[in-house]
Amino acid sequence: QSALEIVAETPHRLRIERHGRMRVPGIVFASRALLPDPAGDESLRQVANVATLPGIVRASFAMPDVHWGYGFPIGGVAGTDVDHGGVVSPGGVGFDISCGVRLLAADLDRDALAPRLGGLMDALGQAIPRGMRRGAVWTLASPGQLRDLLAGGAQYAVEAGHGVARDLLRCEDGGVVTGADPGGLSERAIERGLGQVGSLGSGNHFLEVQAVEKIYDEPAADAFGLWPGQVCVMIHCGSRGLGHQVCSDHVRLMEKAMARYGIEVPDRQLACVPAESPDGRAYFAAMAAATNYARANRQLLTEAARRAFGMCAGARLDLVYDISHNLASLEAHDVDGHRRRLCVHRKGATKALPPAHPDLPPDLIDTGQPVLIPGTMGTASYVLAGVPGNPAFDSTCHGAGRTRSRHAAARETKGRRLRDELEAHGIAVRGTSWQGLAEEAPAAYKDIDAVIDTAVGAGLCRKAARLVPLGVVKG
Ligand code: 5GP
Ligand code: MN
Ligand code: MN
Repeated sequence: QSALEIVAETPHRLRIERHGRMRVPGIVFASRALLPDPAGDESLRQVANVATLPGIVRASFAMPDVHWGYGFPIGGVAGTDVDHGGVVSPGGVGFDISCGVRLLAADLDRDALAPRLGGLMDALGQAIPRGMRRGAVWTLASPGQLRDLLAGGAQYAVEAGHGVARDLLRCEDGGVVTGADPGGLSERAIERGLGQVGSLGSGNHFLEVQAVEKIYDEPAADAFGLWPGQVCVMIHCGSRGLGHQVCSDHVRLMEKAMARYGIEVPDRQLACVPAESPDGRAYFAAMAAATNYARANRQLLTEAARRAFGMCAGARLDLVYDISHNLASLEAHDVDGHRRRLCVHRKGATKALPPAHPDLPPDLIDTGQPVLIPGTMGTASYVLAGVPGNPAFDSTCHGAGRTRSRHAAARETKGRRLRDELEAHGIAVRGTSWQGLAEEAPAAYKDIDAVIDTAVGAGLCRKAARLVPLGVVKG
């Protein structure tokens, strides 16, 4: 395979020139220094591959946290024109459909929590189901109830008593996306979904107690309900086995269906069909169901966290925001001077709506959308906000992004030693497995501060607040 021709357009932006069957260029919002080691990472090749997809417009984008993924890179963003054959690809969403982040803010200062942190972490460790073991916060009565949840998302959970009405105002899409077809899911997907509503899952997923270390944008922080020294809870998880099964089922279907639509892709993992085809619509309806599952999942984990905070710290938790970073959605964007209907894939990328966007809740209209970015359990995480003029369909990064594979990280780090190091820095650790912990070692990720500075420098978002970890419950 030929080497890619890469041009540094600005310190925050690389360009992969069109070649071969690329329909648009590749734009990577990163310096060369932020890219993963090309020896073990094919993500730039993946950016170029995505650029060949039917209907893709503007560019195949990658965020500063880009790294190798299934078909699409993680940190990939691609918009396809659905009225001109634009495709939808499950690989552009990822296996963990609607994986995302939720941030809760406590009416509590970190100094006030300090003497009770250990007890709180123990309670959270008990209350948060995780790992591959069975168990979830909410035991559903029947497959019928699961189907209601798949149609109703976090809204269904709140109506059933698991949360308060205000929570929904601070969820992307009000906590529920329309168009879900629970009846279209495979039996296996339903089976896998039944026992996992309110569970973290493995390794990269976590519930972290954090403190606001720095505010960059006072009005935004005010609107988000954040102040210096405040205790917060960040929850990162997705749609568990159900979402994974939906992705597998539709990749398999599309691998077969693609030829019927005359589509060829440079990588099998980019299986796709026109978004406006029966197969495309079926995927959208299944993805919507899995999205609602993920949102209900984060709502139930919120309930468990609230109980622990009430009991151990006498504190309340208000929702700051809940947002997905693995999703495709139909959106209107201006492309070459025309309003177009696009299927925007964000895979390991976060929507970042600018101030005044009509999809924002009224109290956030002046600030833009809150964007929640986990860093690592040993460094920091960020709250960002959307800005006008975002070149990548109102998208930004979703994390620090890996520089080392799970495998390499686990080989280089001992989980027990890592736990001791974190505890020595005052970060309480409630893990699940030593290997799982080692796979998520901070050293396996890019420097979160550099990633965020690049995202800001590239015009993708602005900083609102920086959060530091106090304790982590790891999947
Ligand atoms: P992903 O969705 O790609 O699995 O993970 C998103 C991001 O979460 C990663 O890029 C990484 O920066 C971040 N992350 C993984 N584990 C932890 C953790 O324990 N704490 C925090 N704050 N961030 C984490
Ligand atoms: Mn996930
Ligand atoms: Mn995720």
